[in-house]
Amino acid sequence: MEFLCGGVGDAFSTKSWGTHFFVREKGFVLAVDCPDSYRRALEKNAFVHGDHILDVGDIDVMLITHLHGDHVNGLEMVLAYRKFVTEKKLEIFTTPEVAELLWTKRLEVSLGTLYDGELYQKMSLDDFANLTIIDWETPIQCGPFEIQTRQTIHHIPTSALKISAGNSKLGYSCDSAFDPSLIDWLRDSDMILHETSFGAAHTPLFSLLELDEDIREKMWLVHLPDSLLNEEVEGLNLAFEGFRRDV
Ligand SMILES: [Zn+2]
Repeated sequence: MEFLCGGVGDAFSTKSWGTHFFVREKGFVLAVDCPDSYRRALEKNAFVHGDHILDVGDIDVMLITHLHGDHVNGLEMVLAYRKFVTEKKLEIFTTPEVAELLWTKRLEVSLGTLYDGELYQKMSLDDFANLTIIDWETPIQCGPFEIQTRQTIHHIPTSALKISAGNSKLGYSCDSAFDPSLIDWLRDSDMILHETSFGAAHTPLFSLLELDEDIREKMWLVHLPDSLLNEEVEGLNLAFEGFRRDV
């Protein structure tokens, strides 16, 4: 599978797009998380997809890991774009906790009513998207990918991921306090994306620097504070926007 890095920023970043990425296999595009300015990031990163630049209309499935804005703020306009421009419902995969709140607590306030020129129409999530719930730690098929989730230590229910296709596996810590059991869970991945940020619900850089070399050399850091951008950290790889890699 191919890994395409859309954004590496943390929630407060002034220099990066919020952390999000894509995995692609046989032309199938799985997008993970949807921060602000989503289409601007896509245009800037300019990932080649067939004969054009990857855009919102090319996404086969959008996976949402949790409801913090830096992971989901862009979804409202992605859904509107899919409804009005490409006229194709978005497939959303997410956890039971996100599925319960996504419409009523995030999207309904803005997308819940549409004016058609004559009438105000009540809308539901079903008018914009098909929702698939991923039960915790139960593998689910998603196009050519198998996805497995694991709850992290974070402010609100948040999912780490393992995404497999054939013999390759990508692991993603998502937002989490440092958690050695999560590191063990991610260990069998060929490539690992791990967050590092400030605060009790995130992972400090020094904790990752203490990991054994086997895991550090296949680990790429994301969710970076501005202060880490363009820095070299001996012993750890920093992911960057527009980065493409075969997993
Ligand atoms: Zn978060």
